[in-house]
Amino acid sequence: SIRNPIKSIDCGIVESHGAGNVQRLIGQALKKRIDDIDHDTCEVGDEDAFFVADLGEVYRQHMRWKLHLPRVKPHYAVKCNPDPQVLRLLAELGTGFDCASKAEIEQVLGIGVEPTRIIYAQPCKTKSHLRYAASHGVKQITFDNIDELHKTKQLFPNAELYLRILTDDSASMCRLSLKFGAALDSTRELLEAAKNLELNVVGVAFHVGSGASDPKAFLKAVQDARYVFDQASGLGFNMHTLDVGGGFCTETFDQMAGVLSNALDLYMPSNTRIIGEPGRYYVSNAFTLACHVIARRTVVDPTLETTSYMLYLNDGVYGNFSSIIFDHQNPIPRILKNGQHFMHASTRVVGGYETPNTTDYSIWGPTCDGIDCVTQMCSFPEVVDIGDWLYFEKMGAYTKCSATRFNGFTDSHDVVYISSDSGASALLGLP
Ligand code: PLP
Repeated sequence: SIRNPIKSIDCGIVESHGAGNVQRLIGQALKKRIDDIDHDTCEVGDEDAFFVADLGEVYRQHMRWKLHLPRVKPHYAVKCNPDPQVLRLLAELGTGFDCASKAEIEQVLGIGVEPTRIIYAQPCKTKSHLRYAASHGVKQITFDNIDELHKTKQLFPNAELYLRILTDDSASMCRLSLKFGAALDSTRELLEAAKNLELNVVGVAFHVGSGASDPKAFLKAVQDARYVFDQASGLGFNMHTLDVGGGFCTETFDQMAGVLSNALDLYMPSNTRIIGEPGRYYVSNAFTLACHVIARRTVVDPTLETTSYMLYLNDGVYGNFSSIIFDHQNPIPRILKNGQHFMHASTRVVGGYETPNTTDYSIWGPTCDGIDCVTQMCSFPEVVDIGDWLYFEKMGAYTKCSATRFNGFTDSHDVVYISSDSGASALLGLP
């Protein structure tokens, strides 16, 4: 069971921008936290950006996964967001974990997860990390090249190897096959090398790219995996598992899952174990980020006779908005003014249409770098001032895990945990 159950959050009442219990709970948590901050007297860091994490959303995503992909056992991709409470919840729900390094393996083992539930899914591993995996019984590992096989022979000869194959990830947001994956014309040679080294290949792995948008990529990848399964079986390997990787998005999941399920039923017999490595799918919508306006610059355009503002937040692309650079995201700012109510920003392209009775803003991070821009142009129907708070939804994937300390700012922001689902609450000891 879970170590260190989290404390419940005592939230006040606040109106929310949308109907529904979920937004109300998030609103309450945002307001409660912000109401406790006195900007004129607080200590450095007390007014830092923070997250509200709805663990109920993670729970619901898991139930949705089980409904639409019952054959595929998810191994959560820790790299996407190694939040300790997310990991605890998923551990309780019985998922496996995809780890990319010693630290991730250590974190997952540290919450009591059995090593057999972990796949070290990094085809190009650091030797000391591989030694750590070997000494802690994390046997499932991926590879895609001959040098990795020699490394494995030396350090972990009884590992259970998954051959990662190349996919067509051209329709994904973050392409991974530029860097990883064996082409189909090289798999026989790799499998023969593994055979000669007396290594144990047990499966095939692929990843169709993070933020995948073309369901056909899954179909083709499963077909290719079938080809490699047959190749490996022909060489005498006992192939028992297919790893379908990540790439699932909340918005398109049902459709992707449908195509994948059909492909699995068509090409993989029912005794083949299927695992996946979803990251973004589980956490993207579960995290809301609140930031505080630390400064404002008025920009008057005498020619157009307009006034707009540059807002400077206490978080930027070197912090939790790293997702703008690394993950090609475009987070939408919303106002949480005086902790009282929510308002959507109407984002628009520069040179686009004019919205009457609104004020234009560009939004910047706190560092001295000009690249540190969160939103180039948005408009709010009311004036935003220093001391106001903005919030951004869908900030759970590839955000805080890639934040830096550039300019001396923190890379570690508080998370206020809530649960909008009684299933998650029961597992985590929340009310
Ligand atoms: N598995 C591997 C090997 C990855 O590299 C990644 C992301 O980079 C993931 C899983 C998670 O992908 P996603 O967040 O798109 O589900």
